[in-house]
Amino acid sequence: MKLEGKIAIVTGASSGMGHAISLLFAKEGATVIAVARRLDRLEKLKTESQNLPGKVIPLKGDVSDKQDIENMIDYAVLNHSKLDILVNNAGIMDDLGLVEDTTDDMWDKVLTTNLTAPFLSIRKAIPVMKKNKNGGVILNIASIAGLFGGRAGTAYTVSKHGLIGLSKNVGYTYSDEKIRCNTICPGAINTEIMNNIQVNARGQAKTADGMKSMHGGAGTPEEIAKAALFLVSDDSKFITGINLIVDGGWTSC
Ligand code: NAD
Repeated sequence: MKLEGKIAIVTGASSGMGHAISLLFAKEGATVIAVARRLDRLEKLKTESQNLPGKVIPLKGDVSDKQDIENMIDYAVLNHSKLDILVNNAGIMDDLGLVEDTTDDMWDKVLTTNLTAPFLSIRKAIPVMKKNKNGGVILNIASIAGLFGGRAGTAYTVSKHGLIGLSKNVGYTYSDEKIRCNTICPGAINTEIMNNIQVNARGQAKTADGMKSMHGGAGTPEEIAKAALFLVSDDSKFITGINLIVDGGWTSC
């Protein structure tokens, strides 16, 4: 088992990649504090994990609420005396809107969830990880929209570009303190993320060219979970500040 004895936090664990990452980490022996807003979904996840070597602990939390972020790190420290792994996975899509169509509300919501929340959780986790004799690992789930301008709307594109910058900065500045920080940039993955979006038609037309180059269809959350396991385990001990693109080749052409 690759994560035996490890205490991990995974945000956005109630569906998609967060759900798959939580189950795989528990399979590898980790205790996973699974954070999301929908407690019923987290309870289901806990049931699914019942026969695995590790375990899933549901913790209700909204990452757009600073207090909930503080609580999730405090929960790990109070109940497990440490935090080994932090996965900032929770995220929301924008409406593919162009800059002139992006409302204040959309900007605030997307930036708060996708960028401010990881910043706050990392800021709070670092002192905890510094006390850990084995350090710690942070993994941020960004997107290929964090690398290119034509894969999403303005707010989402900016939030994921920012998240990649945050990861590189933290990866570099804590490399002497046994704290690693990396990013995964998924391509299109079959999840619920597009479910509640009313797409902005002008923005969709503008990003259509970027979308066209996609080959091989969409990936699965489990494929992202496997990449996540690699980046949080000792298999990647010498890897920090990097960006792992997992997109089935979309951006390689
Ligand atoms: P998803 O919608 O299935 O999962 C996102 C999870 O985040 C959900 O459980 C949702 O409830 C949770 N979440 C959203 N806002 C939250 C908040 N304020 N507090 C707590 N939880 C919150 O979608 P997914 O595709 O699994 O998304 C996971 C990550 O992957 C996101 O950061 C997303 O931006 C990124 N991503 C997704 C794709 C894709 O094609 N699906 C591609 C690139 C990147």
